[in-house]
Amino acid sequence: MGVLRLILGDQLNRRIASLSDLDPEHDTVLMVEVRDEATYVRHHKQKIAFLFSAMRHFAAELEADGVRVDYVRLKDRGNTGSFCGELERAVKRHKPQRVVVTEPGEWRVWEMMQDWRENLSVPVEIREDNRFLCSRGEFERWAGDRASLRMETFYRGMRRRTGWLMDGKEPVGGQWNFDSDNRKRLPRDLEPPERKRFAPDAITQDCLALVEAEFGEHFGSLEDFGWPVTRQDALAALKGFIRHGLPTFGDYQDAMRTGAPFLYHALISPMLNAGLLTAQEVCEAAVRAYEAGTVPLNCAEGFIRQILGWREYVRGLYWARMPAYAQTNALEATRDLPWFYWSGETEMNCLAQCIGETQAHAYAHHIQRLMVLGNFALLAGLAPAQVEEWYLVVYADAYEWVELPNVHGMVLFADGGVMGSKPYAASGAYIDRMSDYCAGCRYDVKVKAGEKACPFNYLYWDFLIRNSERLENNPRLAMPYRTLARMSPKRRAEVKEDAGRFLATLDPNPPAQSGAQAASAT
Ligand SMILES: Cc1cc2nc3c(=O)[nH]c(=O)nc-3n(C[C@H](O)[C@H](O)[C@H](O)COP(=O)(O)OP(=O)(O)OC[C@H]3O[C@@H](n4cnc5c(N)ncnc54)[C@H](O)[C@@H]3O)c2cc1C
Ligand code: SF4
Repeated sequence: MGVLRLILGDQLNRRIASLSDLDPEHDTVLMVEVRDEATYVRHHKQKIAFLFSAMRHFAAELEADGVRVDYVRLKDRGNTGSFCGELERAVKRHKPQRVVVTEPGEWRVWEMMQDWRENLSVPVEIREDNRFLCSRGEFERWAGDRASLRMETFYRGMRRRTGWLMDGKEPVGGQWNFDSDNRKRLPRDLEPPERKRFAPDAITQDCLALVEAEFGEHFGSLEDFGWPVTRQDALAALKGFIRHGLPTFGDYQDAMRTGAPFLYHALISPMLNAGLLTAQEVCEAAVRAYEAGTVPLNCAEGFIRQILGWREYVRGLYWARMPAYAQTNALEATRDLPWFYWSGETEMNCLAQCIGETQAHAYAHHIQRLMVLGNFALLAGLAPAQVEEWYLVVYADAYEWVELPNVHGMVLFADGGVMGSKPYAASGAYIDRMSDYCAGCRYDVKVKAGEKACPFNYLYWDFLIRNSERLENNPRLAMPYRTLARMSPKRRAEVKEDAGRFLATLDPNPPAQSGAQAASAT
């Protein structure tokens, strides 16, 4: 036989490097559903169902085009449950001349691949992932050994290179960034478009049943599953977004509303990260819509910056700085993740809303992840590794290459400023400005101290006090530290007391277990 081409679950693209020279006469494509990958963290049930279904559809499309696919299902007899075991078995079955694979999205799997090179009885060729707009090598050359990197500089370079939204050497509209236009509060009478939901077909239904049976204890619900699982449906989702969401995307990019989890967001990250869509085609669709006059510049630019800028930047940073990147804890945060991150049972309405939507949809939009869920983790001093695991578990789009820099760097500042210039710490006023959550909360966002006060208000100042030595010389935090310097000792003591009282109530255990532990302790 010819070549054995291993396609991982997040590499579902016909143009992926490992298929570029596919010879259907002699080669076999290997795809494997393995328990280790579904359980190394207990992924949201929708993520597993999405990936298994997308894999099965992708395999069926290849077969329909005359490609030989060796597809190992989760429950097939003899399935060893790991990539290594399945690859070894497949090499024995097919006796290929060599194995070809595209580099993975996670360091963990990258290390496995190095073992395959050493231990398999046939040569293993690992190809560069050609789905990104900036290769790992290019990013490393750009980053060099600088201690801190900045997305904005990277992004401008990428705009120049691609020519997207460029007028010669200058950005179209004379500005690189329209962020200041993109922070509007959502007007009460504005109704965002309905999410385009893709009803599960027979293959997806099988996967939903499999996941419920095998991974029923995992986080989240399958009830509202509506993700596209084929390239055709992913393209339909993209088209729907460009027409109905993108023209308003920029303006309300940061807004949050109770009962409206999707607003004007694209809902494409699971498909982009699994290969059903490419960054290039998504950005080109946005550029075309701008050039056709159907999308204003602030929306097209705001959207393209997320993909050409942030997405490429975090991916480059991950590979350039791993594995050391994951080990730092610059703010020495050690508190355990409170149980309510799993259950949603908290009286803080903003957190309860965002966690509830995450359970239901395996989705929360960027500002919910950053300024509600992440902001709390930062201010409460939660341990980075626990927070990172939570984010890797709960979202359908979560892979370490994109999750880790966003959580470790952007949210927790655990990298000490490699990724961003300051922590995104905010008091309740920000959440109140950008959402309607506070109206339904038992706390009062306008109250600064005492039982009724919004916890974000005193946690914000407590965070700045606790981290004074590390952060007070950061020029981007000069203003809050000036305010803190003017704070009376009495007020400081009040902040410390409120924060201490509140933080002591955070329990990492489920209520029943806490009760049992308390009972056994007495
Ligand atoms: C704490 C935290 C954790 C995150 N974890 C993930 C993750 O595991 N996987 C993931 O794909 N994204 C992650 N993001 C980025 C972002 O929140 C999601 O990509 C976005 O919410 C996906 O929804 P959407 O497709 O509707 O995005 P839109 O808001 O419509 O944006 C369009 C696209 O831009 C890209 N994008 C936007 N922001 C980022 C970013 N900061 N980093 C990388 N890509 C970005 C995504 O591909 C997204 O699909 C995280 C952000 C934060 C703050
Ligand atoms: S009052 Fe505070 S805790 Fe309650 S929803 Fe508003 S920001 Fe969140």
